[in-house]
Amino acid sequence: MTKTVAFNTLGCRLNLAETGEITQKFTEQGYEVVEFGEPADVSFLNTCTVTDNADSKCRNLIRKAQRVSPEGKIIVTGCYAQMESEAISQIKGVDLILGNSEKYNVLDYLESEDELQIKIDQTDEFWGASTTPSDSHTRAFLKIQDGCNYICSFCIIPFARGRSKTISIAEAVYKAKEIVANGFKEIVLTGVNIGEYESTSGEKLADLVKEILEIEGLERLRLSSVEPNTITNELLEVLASSPKTCEHFHIPLQSGDNGILKEMRRKYDSEFYSKTIANIKSFFPNAGIGADVIVGYPGETEEQFLNTVKFLEENPITHFHVFPFSKRKGTTAALNKEQLQTVVKSKRVKILRELGNKKLNEFAKSKIGQITKVLFEDTQDGFWTGYSDEYLRVFVKSNSNLKNQIFSVRLIDYKNEKLIGELN
Ligand code: SF4
Repeated sequence: MTKTVAFNTLGCRLNLAETGEITQKFTEQGYEVVEFGEPADVSFLNTCTVTDNADSKCRNLIRKAQRVSPEGKIIVTGCYAQMESEAISQIKGVDLILGNSEKYNVLDYLESEDELQIKIDQTDEFWGASTTPSDSHTRAFLKIQDGCNYICSFCIIPFARGRSKTISIAEAVYKAKEIVANGFKEIVLTGVNIGEYESTSGEKLADLVKEILEIEGLERLRLSSVEPNTITNELLEVLASSPKTCEHFHIPLQSGDNGILKEMRRKYDSEFYSKTIANIKSFFPNAGIGADVIVGYPGETEEQFLNTVKFLEENPITHFHVFPFSKRKGTTAALNKEQLQTVVKSKRVKILRELGNKKLNEFAKSKIGQITKVLFEDTQDGFWTGYSDEYLRVFVKSNSNLKNQIFSVRLIDYKNEKLIGELN
C-alpha cells in the first residue's frame, strides 16, 4: 500500500519553500501527498513562533492531526519546534520534533521505532529550498538566505533560525532554472533578511538577481521582504532593467516613531525609511509597497502610536501587515516592564488595519483604466483571479482556463472590494 503524507505550513514564505523541498523528498520515496485533515500515515507540521497566536495554531494543528490519524506519525518542525520542543513533547501523539537544521533529514528519522525523538541542534549549514511541482502554488518561492545576524529587540528569529547563511549564485540559478522547467512562471526570492546576502556570502544580491532575470522562460520575479537599510541603488537598477521584475516591494517598517524604532534596535529611522521608498518609487512609479508594522510595543505611548498612524498616512505604503506586539521569551522586549494591555493593542491594531484597507482600496481604484499583468491562480465567485505585478488581486470573467498563465489585463472597475479587469 502506498504510504500517505499530509503537510501543513504556518508562517513565512521561507517555511513554504522548505515544505516544498521536503514534499519532494517524500514523493521521491513513493509517498502520496494528501490534504491535511485527511487520514495520513505521516502528518508533517512546519511551524512558526512569531506570535502567541502562531504558537496556539501549531498546538491546535497537532491535536487535529492526532484526531484524524491516531495511528499515524506526527512530525513537528520549524521555529516553534526549535524554540519550544519541551512544550510540544507534552502533547499527545507527537513522534518527532525537528529543529530548523534537522527538518531536511526527516526521512532518516522516520524509520525509527523510538516513541519520541527530539533533534533540535542548530548548524550554520545552508539548506536550499524551493516550491516544487508537488505543491499547489502558482508562484514558486526560492530560498536564497536563512537566519539573521541582527538583534531586533522583539524578534525570536535569530534564535529560531540561527545566524545568516546563503545559497551561492550558481546554485540559486540552477534551482531557478529547475523551477522554470517545472512550469512555474513567477519566482519569489525568499529569506529571513535577504538584504544581508552580500555580507554573508561575499557575492552581490544584485548579481544574483541579474542572473535569475536572464533565465529564459521566467516571466516574473518578485523579492520577498527586504530591510530598508539594505536596498542599494545597484539592486534597484538591476531590477528596473527588466520587465520581468514585479512592481511590488515589501519593506518592513515596524514603527513610524523614531523613539520606538531605536528601542527596537532597527537600523534606520522614519526619515531614512521615507527616503528609501521614495527612491524605490523613482525607479518603479507604480509600485505597491508593503510594510510590516508592530503596534503596542512595550511603552508605546498614544503619541508614539499616532506618529506611526501619521507616517503611514503620509507615505505611499499600500499593503499593511499589522501585528500586535507579542512577547517572545528570550528577547529583550519581553523583559520590558512597560507591557501594554491587550485591549490597548487590539484598539491600535484595528485603527491601523482600517487605515490599511482604506489605502489598499485607494491604490486599487487608482489603477482603473490601466493595463497590468496578472498571473491567474484559481476561480472565485465566477471569476478567474490572481495577482497583478503590483500585488493587487484582480478578477476577470473568462470561459477559458487561465490557470498558471500570465495575461495582460485592462482594469475597468472596483466593486465590492474587487478590482475587476478584462483580458486585454
Ligand atoms: S531583521 Fe530584525 S526583525 Fe528581521 S529577522 Fe532579523 S532580527 Fe528579526
